[in-house]
Amino acid sequence: MATIGAKVSEIARGIHQIFLPLPMRPSIVNVYLVDCSGDWALIDTGTNGQESLSALEGALGQLGITFDRLGAIIMTHHHIDHCGASAELQRLSGARLYIHALELDRITRTIAFAGSAGPTAQAREFFLRHGFPVDRYGAQALRPTWLDPRLYQPSVRPDHLMADGDIIPVGKRRFEVIWTPGHAPGHCVLYLSEEKVMIVGDHLLPKITPHVGLYPGSVANPLGDFIASLEKVQQFDVALVAPAHGGVFHDHRHRARQLIEHHRYREAEMLDLIRKRPMNAYEVAQQIFGSQERPTFHILAATFETLAHLEYARLEGRARAYERAGQVVYQCS
Ligand SMILES: [Zn+2]
Repeated sequence: MATIGAKVSEIARGIHQIFLPLPMRPSIVNVYLVDCSGDWALIDTGTNGQESLSALEGALGQLGITFDRLGAIIMTHHHIDHCGASAELQRLSGARLYIHALELDRITRTIAFAGSAGPTAQAREFFLRHGFPVDRYGAQALRPTWLDPRLYQPSVRPDHLMADGDIIPVGKRRFEVIWTPGHAPGHCVLYLSEEKVMIVGDHLLPKITPHVGLYPGSVANPLGDFIASLEKVQQFDVALVAPAHGGVFHDHRHRARQLIEHHRYREAEMLDLIRKRPMNAYEVAQQIFGSQERPTFHILAATFETLAHLEYARLEGRARAYERAGQVVYQCS
C-alpha cells in the first residue's frame, strides 16, 4: 500500500491527532493514535477508502510504527467515518477491537441498509406516518451518497463490547468509557483521567451540532438521551477535548451548555409553529429548515431530527401527539 503524508499533530504528550479524508462533509475525520508505552491505541478508524487507509499508514510511519504495533482499536460509534475500516485494520494489526454493544446492532442494520434497494416496508410506513412523502423521492435518493458499501466495512466481530464505566487498559494508559447516547445509541467518549483528556467522537464538536434523529428502530427519545449525555460529561474534569471533527478545545462544559441551548432554541421555534396549527414532523421540518431544493437525504435527516425534537417535547409534556388521517401530528396548546 502506498503511503502518503498525513497531517499528524501531538495534542498532548503521546496523543496524536490524525486527519483522515472523507468523501462528504465534514471532509475530515480526526482519529487519535495514543502511545501507551510499548502498546498503541487507535481511537476511530476513518472509512475503508484507499486514500484514508494510506493516510493512516502514512501517519503511523511518521510516528515510526506499523499497523502491527496497534494493541487496541476503540470506536466511539458505528458511523462510516468512525468504524468503516475496522475489519481491515483488525486484519492488518491483530489489535483488540472495542465498541459499545448497542453500536454492534447498528452496524448490522447499516450494512443491511447500505446493501438494500430501498427502505423496508416497516421503514416506509414509518416515513409516511410522519408525513415524509417517500414516493416523491426515488428509493436510491434516500441513501446518503457516501454510504458506499466499499467504504463501510466495519468488523462485526469486535473482541469486547464496551459498557459505561469500563476501564480499558492499554500499556500504561487507562481509557475510561463514558456512554454518551444521543447521536448514536451506543456512542461513547473516552476519558484519560490522569491526562484530563477527553476523546469525544461526535458528542462535542466545536463548530457543528451532531445530527440526532429518530428513525425506525431508534430508541424512544434520542434527543433526551443526547441532552442527558451533555449534562453527564460536564461532571468530568477535562483540560483538553479531542473531537472527531474540528480542532481541539478546552472548555467542554461551555460547549456542552451551548449545544443544550441550541436545542432549547430549536424546540421553542418548533413549539411556536405547532401552537398555530397541528403539523406532522415533515411539515415542521419544511418550515424550520426551509423547503428549497436539497439532496433528499438532507430532507430526510431534517425531518427525523425534527421528529426527535417533537418526541422529546411530547415525552416532557410540552407537546402532544395524535393521529389524523393515518399520520402523527403534534400540537402545543
Ligand atoms: Zn457520527
